[in-house]
Amino acid sequence: MTRRYPIDVCQTDSQDAVSRQITWHEVPIKLNLQTDKAALKRSLAEQLKAQDAVLVAHYYTDPDIQDLALETGGCVGDSLEMARFGQEHRASTVLVAGVGFMAESAKILSPEKRVLAVHDEATCSLDLGCAPEDFKQFCEAHPDREIVVYANTSAAVKAQADWVVTSSIALDIVRHLHAQGKKILWAPDRHLGSYIQKQTGADMLLWQGSCLVHDEFKADGLTALMSEYPDAQVLVHPESPASVVALADVVGSTTQLLRAAIKHPADTFIVATDQGILHAMRQQAPGKTFLAAPTAGESATCKSCAYCPWMALNSLDALHERLKQPGPGIQVDAALREGARRSLQRMMDFAAAQQNTLRVSADLAEHSKQFQDVGAA
Ligand code: SF4
Repeated sequence: MTRRYPIDVCQTDSQDAVSRQITWHEVPIKLNLQTDKAALKRSLAEQLKAQDAVLVAHYYTDPDIQDLALETGGCVGDSLEMARFGQEHRASTVLVAGVGFMAESAKILSPEKRVLAVHDEATCSLDLGCAPEDFKQFCEAHPDREIVVYANTSAAVKAQADWVVTSSIALDIVRHLHAQGKKILWAPDRHLGSYIQKQTGADMLLWQGSCLVHDEFKADGLTALMSEYPDAQVLVHPESPASVVALADVVGSTTQLLRAAIKHPADTFIVATDQGILHAMRQQAPGKTFLAAPTAGESATCKSCAYCPWMALNSLDALHERLKQPGPGIQVDAALREGARRSLQRMMDFAAAQQNTLRVSADLAEHSKQFQDVGAA
């Protein structure tokens, strides 16, 4: 069984413009086949050990998968943390519970390891909306610009970039480039690009992709919820539209929002990102109340209702199937891998250099002076 989702697919149609059109994409519906969850988790833990595999999960995946990753010595994090953890861990197999570009990035950074995706069809609307050939034309039309791409892209797009960034480090890297007087070509998320442009004042030309989940948050619904909970802090991921970001107390990556939820003394939070993050928030900030920011709602135009349909494919059952028939794992063409590795490793090196000196990422600092000991992810 599948469900159809609309994707913003972009093409270059003139020197400075990128046009958008909607195409439809079929996504399998997650099936829950086994009912004895505890037994299944025990069996999965044994199989992970037997296959010398570590489970690396994104915050947006199923709570059971997140719990299993932590219980078996893996990690739950944002895409930068996942890449870093997989690269540094001694296991010979990295099992990625997330979407395709995350597994691809893990393989690019750890070519000697076997990298498995929990579900082969888990992808991302940003990746789907940025075809490598169209992006190549856009880059060729602007040879004077530094090419900065978000991690949510294919290896073929990353290989064309000077830098890869995740949402936890994008602001810092663009600030760094802007300070060097560089002009930037940004892809693929238009909302994140425009947020970074406003924060840094950098000259940025934007691809027009969007995240299926974050694009759905609505300022009017959020305003109504805020008036119901006037003391709530509003946490917003910058892949959301500018009108939603404008209402935020804290804007940041998943890790930065999680840290804000833990550190802030407020007891109620409204959260505008995939609802998968609420599991980690409730675990790490017990006793606090977390409310999902409103999307358009089932009866209107809501496409995903704040759940990523591809992240949802990462179930315990899917992991069970993967471990039964692991196969050779993710393969990345050698030439593409080398190009993508260079731009990915540049981000990892920048993050490592920042770690000792950067105690607070600038977007958090700007929104709340209280988070002075919150570090970038
Ligand atoms: S939540 Fe959005 S950005 Fe993340 S994988 Fe899903 S579609 Fe892509």
